[in-house]
Amino acid sequence: MTPTIVLFDVDGTLVSCGGAGRVAMEAALVEIAGSADALAFSFAGGTDRAIARRALEGSGRVADDAAIDAFLARYLERLPAALASAERYRVLDGAVGVLDTVRGRAGIAVGLGTGNVEAGARAKLARGGIAERFAFGGFGCDHEERARLLAAGAARGAARLGAAVDACRVLVVGDTEKDVAAALAIGAECVGVATGPTDAATLRAAGAHAAFDDLTDPGARAWFAALAASHTSS
Ligand SMILES: [Mg+2]
Repeated sequence: MTPTIVLFDVDGTLVSCGGAGRVAMEAALVEIAGSADALAFSFAGGTDRAIARRALEGSGRVADDAAIDAFLARYLERLPAALASAERYRVLDGAVGVLDTVRGRAGIAVGLGTGNVEAGARAKLARGGIAERFAFGGFGCDHEERARLLAAGAARGAARLGAAVDACRVLVVGDTEKDVAAALAIGAECVGVATGPTDAATLRAAGAHAAFDDLTDPGARAWFAALAASHTSS
């Protein structure tokens, strides 16, 4: 039984925040730069620090670490209200079922692998009541590059399993080609889910080992059931 680390992306994979993340990012940029025009790009698969850097640079501002930290602090101040008022917020179909399938299995560590800073990720999941299901993760506050934050999450998962990370199977579940590329970059497998902006065929073509329309897909349920069945209940 190979110790296995499963890292779930947040936006487009576990939850859809109905634009709350963008509302909070735009509010932060307006406070700093007087306009949110520089945020007119897709955030999908991006990391918070990369989004902040691009927003600040596009606004003609300094985008050093301190400026990015200050931007994200303002974003986090705005995020709870934006989440609370997001009418289209939802936990994505099948996400809870998959989490229930893989929880409590010996040798499986279930965490997050997300470009969100940890406080933002937890706020986004808390509205749907699923934040406490993740004891660890790799986050946007660990690194600006997605592959490196996934590596941080994998290392934490390995530590929880008492195994060397090189001895672990690492699975990344995500909704964009950036999730796939980052997973492959660290030698992980990727399960794609087409509940974000990218269809399953595109995720497969990008190198996802499996990809499904959503997590209620019978193929997805069978895939995670097989993973769980290979690990005894703990
Ligand atoms: Mg995503």
